[in-house]
Amino acid sequence: MMSELSIQENVSLAPLTTFKIGGPARHFVSVKTEPELHEALEVSRKNSWPIFILAGGSNLIVSDKGFDGLVINLELGTGDWGLDDNQLTASASLSMRDLVNASIDNGLSGLAWAGGLPGSFGGAIRGNAGCFGSEMKDIVTTVTSINTKTGAKVTRNNADCQFEYRGSYYKYHPEIITLATIQLHPGDKAELRRIADEHIQYRLARQPLEFPNAGSIFKNVPLEQVPKIHLPLFADAIKDDPFPIVPTAKILAVAGLKGMRVGDAQLSEKHSNYIVNLGQAKSSDIVALIDKIKAEIKTRYQIDLEVEPQLVGF
Ligand SMILES: Cc1cc2nc3c(=O)[nH]c(=O)nc-3n(C[C@H](O)[C@H](O)[C@H](O)COP(=O)(O)OP(=O)(O)OC[C@H]3O[C@@H](n4cnc5c(N)ncnc54)[C@H](O)[C@@H]3O)c2cc1C
Repeated sequence: MMSELSIQENVSLAPLTTFKIGGPARHFVSVKTEPELHEALEVSRKNSWPIFILAGGSNLIVSDKGFDGLVINLELGTGDWGLDDNQLTASASLSMRDLVNASIDNGLSGLAWAGGLPGSFGGAIRGNAGCFGSEMKDIVTTVTSINTKTGAKVTRNNADCQFEYRGSYYKYHPEIITLATIQLHPGDKAELRRIADEHIQYRLARQPLEFPNAGSIFKNVPLEQVPKIHLPLFADAIKDDPFPIVPTAKILAVAGLKGMRVGDAQLSEKHSNYIVNLGQAKSSDIVALIDKIKAEIKTRYQIDLEVEPQLVGF
């Protein structure tokens, strides 16, 4: 028998995003279980409401108008995980922080690189999150998802997930990741804890975590997309992560754009690829600042910057 899902109207999305910005969801529902998710999808189909899946909210720019449809919130931290022969299977709504800790507590290596990575397990898989030389694609073995239009459940292996730089199959298809398995290996608990803590400390020192933000605002730039004539400007920052790139933070710092501001949206002084919300920023300020930065970098270096967070309701 179906439970009564509580569908709310005009729910502000700002508090559910790490940017603390964005208008209301016309309809909103929070789900903790797979049956609740199926039920929410059925409601959306019955009413022909467009849907948006919100998990950790750490990679979103939600428009000031909000989202004119049903936002399904996969409640962060809900669900379950289990171990079988060094393979960790977990619900998509669990936080990366909990899974990093679970892997370390069980003396398993493979996830310590993600120490300090915000958001959910499913969000990390969908965006092939990565840092410190590793990405989700290196450890994922299978992913189970639900098609939002038909409700059908599919399990894909790593190759079929079509992982790419900050993307996967799930970025382009109407499917919600519900469960996934990652391959880990026996490791030394103390050493894994040290690595994860080092990454957390690195983030605290280098990233403007004292202000609301959505992580890197632009993707890094593949080396071949930087005109040769400008390469010497950035040569000392080129790195191989996850392929030869010029860090966008370097390009924006060399261009002298740190501190650039529109309203309360500011290109961080601390990390030049982070836009921070100084307090009252609107998403229109964020987007105007993004446009100004893109235009400046295109004019100066003929480089096209690509926004990393997902735009919602634009
Ligand atoms: C301070 C900070 C540091 C960050 N550092 C990094 C970093 O080092 N590396 C990195 O890659 N990212 C980084 N990010 C970005 C962000 O943490 C990741 O992209 C994260 O994986 C997003 O997960 P989420 O649960 O918050 O997704 P959300 O922001 O809730 O959603 C992002 C997108 O994923 C979709 N989505 C979410 N869950 C599912 C699901 N279960 N099934 C299908 N689609 C889904 C949403 O619909 C949306 O389109 C950082 C962000 C912040 C704020």
